[in-house]
Amino acid sequence: MIIRKTEAEVDKMAAAGAILVRTLEMISKKVRPGVTTAELDEAAEKFIRSQGAIPTFKGYRGFPATICASPNSMIVHGIPGPTVLRRGDIISVDVGVTLDGWVADAARTFPVGAISDEAQALLVTTEAALKAGAAEAKPGARIGDVSNAIQSRVEADGMSVVHSLVGHGVGREMHEPPEVANQGEAGTGIVLEEGTVIAIEPMVAIGGPDVTLDDDGWSVYTADRSLAAHFEFTVAVTAAGPRILTPWHESKESGDLDGS
Ligand code: MG
Repeated sequence: MIIRKTEAEVDKMAAAGAILVRTLEMISKKVRPGVTTAELDEAAEKFIRSQGAIPTFKGYRGFPATICASPNSMIVHGIPGPTVLRRGDIISVDVGVTLDGWVADAARTFPVGAISDEAQALLVTTEAALKAGAAEAKPGARIGDVSNAIQSRVEADGMSVVHSLVGHGVGREMHEPPEVANQGEAGTGIVLEEGTVIAIEPMVAIGGPDVTLDDDGWSVYTADRSLAAHFEFTVAVTAAGPRILTPWHESKESGDLDGS
């Protein structure tokens, strides 16, 4: 069952989202050659707690850290540690923030110094797919409209949607119904109603769509070890249209959804 939120509850989730966006902006400034993913994690946890909020991921199903840090061919769920970022890497940073019992969830993939044209194209496509999906999150639309917008944008650029991993509803819990697939048919699936809040999170690979799970039980890689990127917004369906609760401001392809 989808738990719809009141306007006041959406505002609370937006407050969590504002802290999350500031966390990602802080992290983006620390992403550089030589930094470890553990250092990024430590900075994120310190910042989130300094705002009176809780790092949602820490302890979730035993996950040991505040951020998921997933470089290069790792798609999602990387455990921060001694991995040193090198020039030319890309690094997905996924963060959850809980404030006053309400969760926001978002991710961005950052370049580490100068990156290849191919890697840059992957980041641009994935972020554009996220925005295309989010733009469909309006009352009366169907979840398949969101999924199809993502898939269409990715496939137009000759890349693959990682379809075994999906977005989700979000609220007091990080994972609520509905599932938000990154591929699907427009006009199908549940109808989005005012007050539905979803985490839309395209995961995109330059190569094939298949994945493998690492022995650590968390890290998900592309099966062919091609580069992958991940961008995620928490989005509320409102009478006025999609409201991005985690709007970041720097972007290669800026659009109307970048926030106010
Ligand atoms: Mg998520």
